[in-house]
Amino acid sequence: MIDPFGREISYLRLSVTDRCDFRCQYCMAESMTFLPKSDVLSLEELSRLCGAFIKRGVRKLRVTGGEPLLRRNIMVLFRSLARHLEAGTLDEVTLTTNGSQLARHARELFDCGVRRINVSVDTLDPERFRAVTRRGNLDQVLEGLAAARAVGLAIKVNTVALKGINEREIDDLVAWCGDQGFDLCLIETMPLGDIQGDRTDQYLPLSLVRRRLGEHWTLIDSTYRTGGPARYAEVVETGRRVGFITPMTHNFCESCNRVRVTCTGTLFMCLGQNDAADLRTPLRAGASDIPLLAAIDDAIARKPKGHDFVIDRRPARPIVARHMSATGG
Ligand code: SAM
Ligand code: SF4
Repeated sequence: MIDPFGREISYLRLSVTDRCDFRCQYCMAESMTFLPKSDVLSLEELSRLCGAFIKRGVRKLRVTGGEPLLRRNIMVLFRSLARHLEAGTLDEVTLTTNGSQLARHARELFDCGVRRINVSVDTLDPERFRAVTRRGNLDQVLEGLAAARAVGLAIKVNTVALKGINEREIDDLVAWCGDQGFDLCLIETMPLGDIQGDRTDQYLPLSLVRRRLGEHWTLIDSTYRTGGPARYAEVVETGRRVGFITPMTHNFCESCNRVRVTCTGTLFMCLGQNDAADLRTPLRAGASDIPLLAAIDDAIARKPKGHDFVIDRRPARPIVARHMSATGG
């Protein structure tokens, strides 16, 4: 799949549920209305959808959400993706998770061919963790991380940089990830979805975080890439990497190789734009994949050049109304 700007689209991020056991302040509102089950694709439909994207040249697939490990029988999907890995039609299956259910799924994920996972941890302080996630239990996540490491999964910790919340803790996270053998990826908050709060209060530019990290750590720019938008530096003292995802201070759209599908089968060609394509209708129209493949081709042909996120106080509504948990982070 080549888009109008000559970018090869080989990476699919698939949200398998909009539900979550946490309510992270920057991601969701305290009270969320989740989708009715009939709107959500079944595991068989998700698997068929993945097959169509693989047929169209997707080589890397990330399962995300909401919290993907909360989806009942989710391992059925991982097992079906494992078949594509074994056949060599897919290079990699990865997962983004909050870690709450990781302890019981780590072994099976590894057995299904998953080798790298991203686990979101914004703070190592149990009370602060509870406050940021509104209901998460840090110990449970740490147990999940330990189980994942024990079975041999490579782990990248995702941390959203939050002004006044974890900004003084980033050095500790670098040191802890170094001790644990994890990479760390820092993320700027993006204005996605109504969170019933003011995002300008949370936004912390990573340019500032990086400058501060430079006071305590020797950071050497790295050419390492995972196929994602993060730019990495080696931390000399820990021997691990720290990544920076900076949608607000640096636009990374030129090298965009990805699209996203929600759990209802809506294809978003850009995280920061509203144009979308409905894949559920062609998927449910019948057993033939022809209408589905045509809908995918049509959508890729209008992938936009890029996003234009701005956080400022004036527009009370976010530019993109859907939450990250719907599109899949
Ligand atoms: N529940 C899983 C988790 O938390 O890892 C997967 C889905 S979550 C939406 C994926 C990633 O998006 C997480 O690392 C989360 O911190 C990040 N995220 C959510 N809302 C965000 C926002 N408004 N800006 C930046 N990152 C966000
Ligand atoms: Fe749930 Fe992940 Fe969103 Fe937190 S960031 S509320 S864990 S989907």
